[in-house]
Amino acid sequence: MLRIVLGFIFVAIIVDARYPGSYLSIKGQIALYLSAFLIVAWEAYSFWYFHNEQFLKIKSGIKDHTVDCNNLNHHIQELKRTQLDVNSYDYGRADRYDTSRYQFKRNEWAKTNRDNKVHNCSASVCKAANDQPFKYLCKYFDIDDNEETLSHLESALNNYLAAYQGKILLEQERDRLMQTLTDPLPSLFYKLNKSRLAKELGFESVRLVDINFQTYKFQYISSGGNSSYVVSIVLDMENLEKFIQYLGSRLRFKNSAKGQRALMTPQLREKIKARDKNTCQQCGISVNDEPNLLIEVDHIIPIAKGGITTEYNLQALCWRCNRKKGSTLIPRVESSGVI
Ligand SMILES: [Zn+2]
Repeated sequence: MLRIVLGFIFVAIIVDARYPGSYLSIKGQIALYLSAFLIVAWEAYSFWYFHNEQFLKIKSGIKDHTVDCNNLNHHIQELKRTQLDVNSYDYGRADRYDTSRYQFKRNEWAKTNRDNKVHNCSASVCKAANDQPFKYLCKYFDIDDNEETLSHLESALNNYLAAYQGKILLEQERDRLMQTLTDPLPSLFYKLNKSRLAKELGFESVRLVDINFQTYKFQYISSGGNSSYVVSIVLDMENLEKFIQYLGSRLRFKNSAKGQRALMTPQLREKIKARDKNTCQQCGISVNDEPNLLIEVDHIIPIAKGGITTEYNLQALCWRCNRKKGSTLIPRVESSGVI
């Protein structure tokens, strides 16, 4: 921020030097040079302070905590990278040649017709997909409404929710640690430039903006190429939760032999955490021991090994134990075959 202000000041100084006297009075010039000097002095002082022995001592004093926070950050990045690919079949490849008399200008089709996330269709299918996205998603992208698909979606939602909660808790923990530093200068830096202090102490920043939610598209291009229409269905957390509810109701688990099956929703996650008193069922650590502890909901028998979402098969685990268990992440999809 200060550097941006400094940039503006330098531009003003250059403009003023080019056209002397036309923009700034003498007082204005003094104020400009003085503020530039103060900012440069502050930056130089900050640079010196963050490389000074006293600060390096403070930094090494909380090293265990920063390493722990950065490990949680890496775990969040792994959760974030959860793949969501529920296409059930690989139909193989084929080449298509336009042999029509008029050579319709459907150039854009050529770019996308092998991408199984884009479905090229008529205007009426596009419109219908817009009205009933989940129904058309299943129908045109061959998403089977079966237990495996549902579990796969639930597992992805569970991971995304844990990543989001983890980010909030990690930032709270980082702030708490920075506030415990009793030296006056870190407190001043904390007020003036919190993110700089965090960076200098060795905390890596948490990024979730680049989370890659699966997107499916229905696309219509008229034969002349003049009219086009795209319907995008982004399976972000909100839509994913709705899709799980939709598939769950289609499968009518309540009436099936697996009547005890629950649906993995944010509410169920909170219920399991409350049932287990926010305590890790593996190592026994709880939010009473560590206020910003990330507690995750884990399938005791992993979904990949046939476990299902029932309250009996779910437990609260701290992020460290869940990370060690490691099998909760969805296995990468093979190039063909079912999920
Ligand atoms: Zn644990």
